Amino acid sequence: MQRTVAVIGGGISGLTACYQLARSPNAPKIILLEGSGRLGGWLHSTRTEDGAVFEHGPRGIRPAGTVGKNTLLMVSELGLDADVLPVPGDHPASKNRYLYVSGALHRLPSGIGGVLRTVSPFTRPLFWSGLHELAAPRGTQPDETIHSFVSRRFGKEV
Ligand SMILES: Cc1cc2nc3c(=O)[nH]c(=O)nc-3n(C[C@H](O)[C@H](O)[C@H](O)COP(=O)(O)OP(=O)(O)OC[C@H]3O[C@@H](n4cnc5c(N)ncnc54)[C@H](O)[C@@H]3O)c2cc1C
Repeated sequence: MQRTVAVIGGGISGLTACYQLARSPNAPKIILLEGSGRLGGWLHSTRTEDGAVFEHGPRGIRPAGTVGKNTLLMVSELGLDADVLPVPGDHPASKNRYLYVSGALHRLPSGIGGVLRTVSPFTRPLFWSGLHELAAPRGTQPDETIHSFVSRRFGKEV
């Protein structure tokens, strides 16, 4: 008798599980249960009219190790090789990070000098946020969100 497998959540993990199950010998009947109105979970892109792509979640694959190898293998099996943009460590895209705040891109500082200066969109050097972190008291919530953790330890602006 054919087994039925329910996969809960249509993010990349659930979709990968469905893909692997569907390819397995004696593939079961698969039911994917997704709670929201779209598949992809954290994978979510916005394309603007001028062609820019904003990733709300992940935008990179680390190719190292077994996990990276398996991911690239799946990319290849899905015929997506041509869509992969290799970005080596010395590429400007690897070195520069931007924050999109209030309709404008702000380059994040790199190196010690950038951390000691006030750089837009921050109102004071990030160095002070690092000092704030050292003096931050322990949290009292047993299950704190990442937002709350970062605000408490590095200040609300960060
Ligand atoms: C800002 C950001 C940047 C990131 N950058 C990278 C990166 O560059 N490279 C990288 O490898 N990783 C990156 N990550 C991590 C990566 O995005 C996640 O590890 C990955 O997307 C998690 O996928 P997932 O399927 O496990 O979970 P999710 O993407 O969270 O998907 C879970 C799905 O399950 C659904 N669901 C939840 N509960 C239920 C329920 N009870 N019933 C039915 N459906 C349910 C949700 O609606 C969702 O669709 C980043 C994450 C974030 C937030």
